[in-house]
Amino acid sequence: MIKYFDLQKVNHSFEPQLSEAVQRVTRSGWYLLGPEVKNFEKEFSNYCGTKHCIGVGNGLDALRVIIMAYRELGILQEDDEIIIPANTYIASILAIISTGLKPILCEPTLKSCNIDPEQIERLITKKTKAIMVVHLYGRTADMQPIDKIAKRYSLKVIEDCAQAHGAIYNGKRCGNLGDAGGFSFYPAKNLGALGDGGAVTTNDDKLADCIRAIANYGSQEKYINIYKGINSRLDELQAAVLSVKLPRLDNENEKRRRIAQRYISEIKNPLVTLPYVNKWEEHVFHVFTLLTPHRKELQEYLLKQEITTLIHYPIAPHKQKAMEEYSHLQLPITEQIHREELSLPISPVMTDVEASKVIEAVNGFCK
Ligand SMILES: *Cc1c(COP(=O)(O)O)cnc(C)c1O
Repeated sequence: MIKYFDLQKVNHSFEPQLSEAVQRVTRSGWYLLGPEVKNFEKEFSNYCGTKHCIGVGNGLDALRVIIMAYRELGILQEDDEIIIPANTYIASILAIISTGLKPILCEPTLKSCNIDPEQIERLITKKTKAIMVVHLYGRTADMQPIDKIAKRYSLKVIEDCAQAHGAIYNGKRCGNLGDAGGFSFYPAKNLGALGDGGAVTTNDDKLADCIRAIANYGSQEKYINIYKGINSRLDELQAAVLSVKLPRLDNENEKRRRIAQRYISEIKNPLVTLPYVNKWEEHVFHVFTLLTPHRKELQEYLLKQEITTLIHYPIAPHKQKAMEEYSHLQLPITEQIHREELSLPISPVMTDVEASKVIEAVNGFCK
């Protein structure tokens, strides 16, 4: 059986360093807001090229504390609007709703599955204060035209980097492409912890200070609370684990790219549309996506050949029960992606033989 993603094998490849790190923290007697988190924050901000990194509890909170901090700093207000790609994972949208702001859903392009810069401007109103780009599937959003629009209308640019650790656009890593970036270290992400974890990156000193306080009960000094904060901390154990895994991230992303390159050059089947790649460094292939109107048949066909695939994602956010008030929206590109997307196995531990089997199987699929 070729697994979609063999997480056990991925983490096993980091032994014995992973177990050593866990043991070091266990024995240290210090589990929160300590040297491991400080160290990882420094390493990760260096990696992303940003001035600051603040560890938080998960990727959703990373996005939430950015918005909460902008509210505390008077830059965002309740009911302000944030433009966001309609086909994102629902977490990005929930981050906006749960902090009292309004997500404005924007169509992606079919080619990139990222927000369509040409569709953004007509959605801008007096209430629009930010654009949240999502580097979906591991591909950076088309930042140049987005930055232009953001400058013209004085909008903040918030990046959802949960699927794109290490992706590079015009020489800069994601997390350093906007005003602030939110990362998730959910175990199956390109950089994954052994549980929940997240981080915010930014070059804005004030914002960083505010976020750090908000994530720790709104406190900078013990028992002195200056904001109505939350408890969302990256713990020492996860930080130690991430410090073991970060040095190999570029190498692992390269392995993903190599598989993607093979898929793109060797899969030849008129029934599937393969992802278009602009520059390889812009994509870290968290997910290898293809589009096909025959998704159900292809997925079953591959499963019969012992190849497991996933769908990212089966239901568009505006079609979810949780988002009923958005269900009237006409978003044909978004809906097509949710109807046709199928994700092939890809991971840094996947072998060439496995990739060949996937290629052969997809090529053998017919109606
Ligand atoms: C995983 C993910 C998140 C949320 O991360 P968690 O750590 O699960 O909270 C947010 N946005 C996107 C695009 C994601 O893929």
